[in-house]
Amino acid sequence: MSDRFTVGDIIRLKKKHPCGNSHWEILRVGADFRLKCMGCQHQVMVPRKLVEKNLRELIKAERNAGPDEEDKDVH
Ligand SMILES: [Zn+2]
Repeated sequence: MSDRFTVGDIIRLKKKHPCGNSHWEILRVGADFRLKCMGCQHQVMVPRKLVEKNLRELIKAERNAGPDEEDKDVH
């Protein structure tokens, strides 16, 4: 089962962070995502449901030709 979200991807959300930024880097995926604000480096945990709901754009990280996905963090 593949996930459209991958660690390292950048997402743009409808809601802006108070610092004015709306782009977040995905640090962890799961039932909750850990996101890092690209404006002020602040980290937050956000329920996956909220990420899905507020997602405006998903910017896939450029993969460095790795044959296997090693960053699966499934629990
Ligand atoms: Zn911020």
